[in-house]
Amino acid sequence: MSTRYDAVVVGLGAFGSQALWALARRGLRVAGIEQFPLGHALGSSHGVTRLFRVACLEHPGLVPLAQRSLALWRELEDTACTPLLDQTGGLMAGPPSGRAVGGTRRAAAAHHLDIEDLTVEQLRDRFPQHAGLPDHYEGVWDPGAGVLRPEAAIGAALDAARALGATVLEGVRVTGLTDGGVATALGTVHAEQVVVTAGPWLSDLVPQVATTVRRVPLTWFGTRPGYDPAAFDLKAFPVFIRHYDDERTIWGHGAALGEPAKVGLSPDPDQQPAVHPDTIDRSVDAATDWARLGTVLKRTLPGLDPTPAKARPCMITMSADGQFVVGRLPGRERVVVAGGCSGHGFKHASGVGDVVARIVADENQVLDAAFLDPARFS
Ligand SMILES: Cc1cc2nc3c(=O)[nH]c(=O)nc-3n(C[C@H](O)[C@H](O)[C@H](O)COP(=O)(O)OP(=O)(O)OC[C@H]3O[C@@H](n4cnc5c(N)ncnc54)[C@H](O)[C@@H]3O)c2cc1C
Repeated sequence: MSTRYDAVVVGLGAFGSQALWALARRGLRVAGIEQFPLGHALGSSHGVTRLFRVACLEHPGLVPLAQRSLALWRELEDTACTPLLDQTGGLMAGPPSGRAVGGTRRAAAAHHLDIEDLTVEQLRDRFPQHAGLPDHYEGVWDPGAGVLRPEAAIGAALDAARALGATVLEGVRVTGLTDGGVATALGTVHAEQVVVTAGPWLSDLVPQVATTVRRVPLTWFGTRPGYDPAAFDLKAFPVFIRHYDDERTIWGHGAALGEPAKVGLSPDPDQQPAVHPDTIDRSVDAATDWARLGTVLKRTLPGLDPTPAKARPCMITMSADGQFVVGRLPGRERVVVAGGCSGHGFKHASGVGDVVARIVADENQVLDAAFLDPARFS
């Protein structure tokens, strides 16, 4: 292909679609390449909703990224004239020393966020859907939390990028990075810089960034007979993360956007060994996908039917330290990577897209993203 782009973005899921939009907004000549049809359900970004949180329990440094992402999600909503994020507030519950409560409090304290501390009595009173809360549990209410629409957000960013002149190629697999761009079955796409946002396929194209991919299902649950379905609407049963003493976590939210309540369980490396995204099992079954979660639900959310109304396979791409990997690739200065979502990346995708575009365009960063730099593994 004869056109020479300022940058080519490989992979148009969460991070790639937002990076393409951010690059196109800067007036750069950009192309995005996606191996599957746009809006596919074969990566990590399908399944109608994702949790959004501001007081990020995973790392205090993610709070400014979430705040920046929030502003950009609102800009994208305005650009696309479509709702993408519903800020309902969210509940973190568990032992005070655990990640959900302790991590959220640490992040909020570091950035002076308004959060509300809840005693176990207040938890039981305000959220009666949550059963089996031991006396030593506490809660934190994050008013900035809510529910994002991932498929709509990707579509909106790609439309916005195209409206600004970006080229989008779908159904084209990038087979390798070259000195002057990327190789595809259609020939070389020439570009000054390459942005690799290949999600679960990241380490195939950039083996320098080690990731582990785990197959983790998305599961939706209806209410059991005798329970009021309205008690499990998004309004009554908002976004939550509940942490157990044994380090397991369940997360989810009430019925929204035509789907019943969505609940998931943190992956167990023994039950969910590392996989390759080209060969993962795309079917779902009780033993692999919801037997463990169903047992937990009976004790903790007894109003939900422990057999899911719907289940879909999905993938989490873990980096070596559980944080994203965003920055220039050491030793390959024309290559920028953004990946290693580690199961909590969608909410930050618009902010990550902005960080990537600032790197490519050689602009000052507006927030400290050094803790995400791939050089930390060198
Ligand atoms: C069960 C589950 C629940 C989650 N819940 C949340 C949540 O509540 N909140 C939250 O913030 N995050 C959540 N996440 C994480 C979030 O979904 C991911 O962080 C995010 O979707 C990752 O985006 P990505 O761009 O890295 O990957 P993807 O969206 O998968 O995009 C990668 C893209 O690159 C393409 N690609 C790969 N290789 C090539 C190639 N060689 N050539 C061309 N194209 C290529 C792929 O086809 C794909 O479209 C969850 C994840 C899972 C699995």
